[in-house]
Amino acid sequence: MNFKEQSHILKTYKKFDIVLKRGEGVYLFDESDKKYLDFSSGIGVCALGYNHSQFNNAIKAQMDKLIHTSNLYFNETIARAAQNLAKASGLEAVFFSNSGTEAIEGAMKVARKYAFLKGKKGGTFIAFKHSFHGRTLGALSLTANENYQKPFKPLIKGVQFARLNDIKSVEKLIDKKTCAIVLESVQGEGGIKVADKKFYQDLRKLCDEKDLLLIADEIQCGMGRSGKFFAYECSEILPDIVVCAKALGCGLSVGAFVVNEKLANSSLEPGDHGSTYGGNPLVCAGVNAVFEIYENEKILERVSKLTPYLEKTLENMVKDFSFIKKRKGLGFMQGLSMKKSVKVAEFLKKCQENALLLLSCGKNDLRFLPPLIIEKEHIDEMNEKLRKSLKEF
Ligand SMILES: *Cc1c(COP(=O)(O)O)cnc(C)c1O
Repeated sequence: MNFKEQSHILKTYKKFDIVLKRGEGVYLFDESDKKYLDFSSGIGVCALGYNHSQFNNAIKAQMDKLIHTSNLYFNETIARAAQNLAKASGLEAVFFSNSGTEAIEGAMKVARKYAFLKGKKGGTFIAFKHSFHGRTLGALSLTANENYQKPFKPLIKGVQFARLNDIKSVEKLIDKKTCAIVLESVQGEGGIKVADKKFYQDLRKLCDEKDLLLIADEIQCGMGRSGKFFAYECSEILPDIVVCAKALGCGLSVGAFVVNEKLANSSLEPGDHGSTYGGNPLVCAGVNAVFEIYENEKILERVSKLTPYLEKTLENMVKDFSFIKKRKGLGFMQGLSMKKSVKVAEFLKKCQENALLLLSCGKNDLRFLPPLIIEKEHIDEMNEKLRKSLKEF
């Protein structure tokens, strides 16, 4: 069989001309055993890299015990995973889903239910320009990308988009119907834009004054990528709801939203929401292994320690190549904006030729989401491969 045969796969992705076969640490191997340095982590998912033995063994062990039970019964693995996530986020109660977009849907339902119980009509949302929250209809309604939205209208009513880091643009949009403000603590897909500390704190104040919920989408920037468990910690605020996925399961399909105590007691009730698989014992064993490994291998400390070196490496690239406009980002979530003359989509293929996997984002930006286990030498290797690709392009 030709593995590039696409006739039975719905064409929702423009795929690269690579067939991947296995992974080891921060490297991926294709059919001919070509070894790629992966600075994309399966779009920010594989924080522990590939074939991590402790992670794999935890999943294998759980597989022989119990894979699925439905959420009608208690199970120790699930209870532990929820406890781990509540503790890491500083919030109270967890709902597990199977993906990021589903977790966003759940968070939206929490916000509407909370408003409903308060007798507030409307249940409208404020999100931000250049946001990305997912592909299902609710999450898509919060995603400020006309290309993604247009063919699927009508979307849910009452979503307005403010400008990130412009508190006045948010204030202007708030009215009696507003129930929540939703933001990525660091925008990913839309082009690596960090929510400033002052802005995030002002949002928190605004939400407290007006009894609105602050929802942090940490699907991409969370789980250690910023050097903290969640990127909102860098702004010293606590959202009312945090939404998590991607690195949470390091490759297993799991997402979650976590709510504060107020919402745990006054929003969703039995019958309001559910998922047949969501957070089954298998994926929760994986989640627990992720938390254990983060602690054993001091993942957060490692990210914090290596971030200045990664940033310096990218800054030097900006200095040396006139067609790179600037560096932006937080921790191991970094971007380089390129001038129009360099088509990033094409440039990614040049990098692949030189055995480096990167991502694009925003209008014309390169995106770096390395596994969180990288060492200094991997940054040097990335630097070499990227410079070679830039020179050849
Ligand atoms: C990836 C992503 C999502 C969607 O997650 P899926 O698991 O693909 O549904 C939502 N928000 C952000 C910020 C993301 O990066």
